[in-house]
Amino acid sequence: MTRKQRKNLIRIILAAALLIAASLLPVEGIWRLLIFAVPYLMVGWDVLWKALRNILRGDFFDEQFLMAIATIGAFVLGEYPEGVAVMLFYQVGEWFQSVAVGKSRRSIAALMDIRPDTATVLRDGQELEVSPEEVQVGECIIVRPGEKIPLDGVILEGMTSVNTAALTGESLPVDRSAGENVVSGSVNLTGVIKVKALSAYEQSTVARILSLMEESASKKARVEGFITRFARVYTPCVVVGALLLFLIPTLLLHGSFAEWGRRALVFLVVSCPCALVVSVPLSFFGGIGGASRQGILVKGANYMELLSKVDTCVFDKTGTLTKGQFAVTAVHPQEVDESALMDIAAAVESFSSHPIAASIVRAHDSHLDKSLLTDVQEHAGQGLTAMLDGQRIAVGNGKLMDAVHADWKECHLPGTAIHIARGSEYLGHVVVADVVKPEAAEAIAGLKKMGVSRTVMLTGDRREVAQAICGETGVNQFRAELLPQDKVSQVESLLETGHTLAFVGDGINDAPALSRADLGIAMGAMGSDAAIEAADVVLMDDKLTKLPKAISIARKTMRIVRQNIIFAIGVKVLVLLLGAMGMAGMWIAVFADVGVLVLAILNAMRTLKQ
Ligand code: ADP
Ligand code: MG
Repeated sequence: MTRKQRKNLIRIILAAALLIAASLLPVEGIWRLLIFAVPYLMVGWDVLWKALRNILRGDFFDEQFLMAIATIGAFVLGEYPEGVAVMLFYQVGEWFQSVAVGKSRRSIAALMDIRPDTATVLRDGQELEVSPEEVQVGECIIVRPGEKIPLDGVILEGMTSVNTAALTGESLPVDRSAGENVVSGSVNLTGVIKVKALSAYEQSTVARILSLMEESASKKARVEGFITRFARVYTPCVVVGALLLFLIPTLLLHGSFAEWGRRALVFLVVSCPCALVVSVPLSFFGGIGGASRQGILVKGANYMELLSKVDTCVFDKTGTLTKGQFAVTAVHPQEVDESALMDIAAAVESFSSHPIAASIVRAHDSHLDKSLLTDVQEHAGQGLTAMLDGQRIAVGNGKLMDAVHADWKECHLPGTAIHIARGSEYLGHVVVADVVKPEAAEAIAGLKKMGVSRTVMLTGDRREVAQAICGETGVNQFRAELLPQDKVSQVESLLETGHTLAFVGDGINDAPALSRADLGIAMGAMGSDAAIEAADVVLMDDKLTKLPKAISIARKTMRIVRQNIIFAIGVKVLVLLLGAMGMAGMWIAVFADVGVLVLAILNAMRTLKQ
């Protein structure tokens, strides 16, 4: 509780005590007014002040204004205790609301409590405690057990297990030893490690995630915009309604001023739309926080809303449905011997960051001097070309071979064939194979069970490979042999069918498709910058089962938002009707208003628990 909240609570309790005392005192007339005016002003002076300030600014019809005229009206009618009570309960609601907002903000902050405070850097043989921003790329840092890893880096010495739960939601620690990478924001559990920083703090995983979370608060969902507009129209309507409710019976039908005045006031008290205005953004806030605890980053409330509506999922193949960890399974040389073929392939591929390239480089230690290769070009979705001894080398798929007019051969082994040509002379091919992620079939089945019935795989790979993977995972349709730009046009043509389409990719060669879809979902963001930038939702590790989880969190959040809207409007309409008919007094109005607000806030807080 903040100091301001504590002060407000004391003020509310004191005013309540004074209200009770005042009701027990046997005084009449002007004294009675003065006695009740004390707790009234005590608890309401700031509301009155704000209302006055807003009126002077020409800003009528806000909740302070409503509360001010409702309570002053009650005093005019001589209903002093009711007037004080309305103000008192309004403040109780406000207090509750500020505590709830503060709580969910703090718990998001706690969930995202991945910001490292210090880093221990080794400089001139000395250990120095500095802030993570001061560590330069390439410097060595020491991380002890229990500490957060402050920067992305590679372990130089030591072995340990690290917990990445705060980033990925994965609670099982993973073992890491020298030569392996560690990610900032994860916690070092068991051993002392010496880590070489691979990026500055501003570019580190943790800094990017934190800035992403901050941005997400500013992106509003469509329902939120609707609520704001609704409140703007609704409040004046109720004020006019209250006025008519008072004027028509008294002026035209000779009704009693006091009775219709009271009914009009009930109308006003109920009209405050605070429950809606507060609980809707609070629900989204909670949903985003709850998702982040599972390692799912949603970049704004608008994306939460879209995520709940997704009915078509389009997947990229490599790195998304498959592990993206290729292994060389065969080498079929044609004109040269096997090691000469692999020398060329590995040297050229060393210029690419594609997972296929990594597998070929890993499989063969090239004897070719890489500096002999010039004019290296990567052709996304096809392969690479480079100049060697005045001849153009091409390493890639059939499309690339056609482009260089090489007489290439189809390979009938399962897997992806990477062909190699020198000039237009075909040198042979290397077969690499990837494996489907073990949880892919379960994730696709989960999606189908949720009603996400259309699943499509897009790939630059061959038809046969695509078909095999669809069979293994249960994906409905595929489009094969696509270039990155074809993936975008496929997404566009699927979009035309009026479905809500999510594109799931890993950011390698598919960033344009990620940004073109209704919703771009990137996986395995602990590494790929492109994915974090282009996507709307980021699954921190590359577990596909996060996808149905993310959708179910979004649906739960939207359900709670909708419940709150219906509940709040329903109760208000009911009390408005009862009030107009004279069946609900000021007290019921007050309790209905505060009650709805408190229940809506409690309901909204449920989104935080996922
Ligand atoms: P996917 O659609 O499966 O994610 P990509 O669009 O990244 O695949 O690549 C499509 C195809 O292009 C690969 O199957 C491969 O044949 C070829 N290719 C892409 N990059 C490379 C590379 N660096 N070396 C060789 N072939 C490549
Ligand atoms: Mg890809």
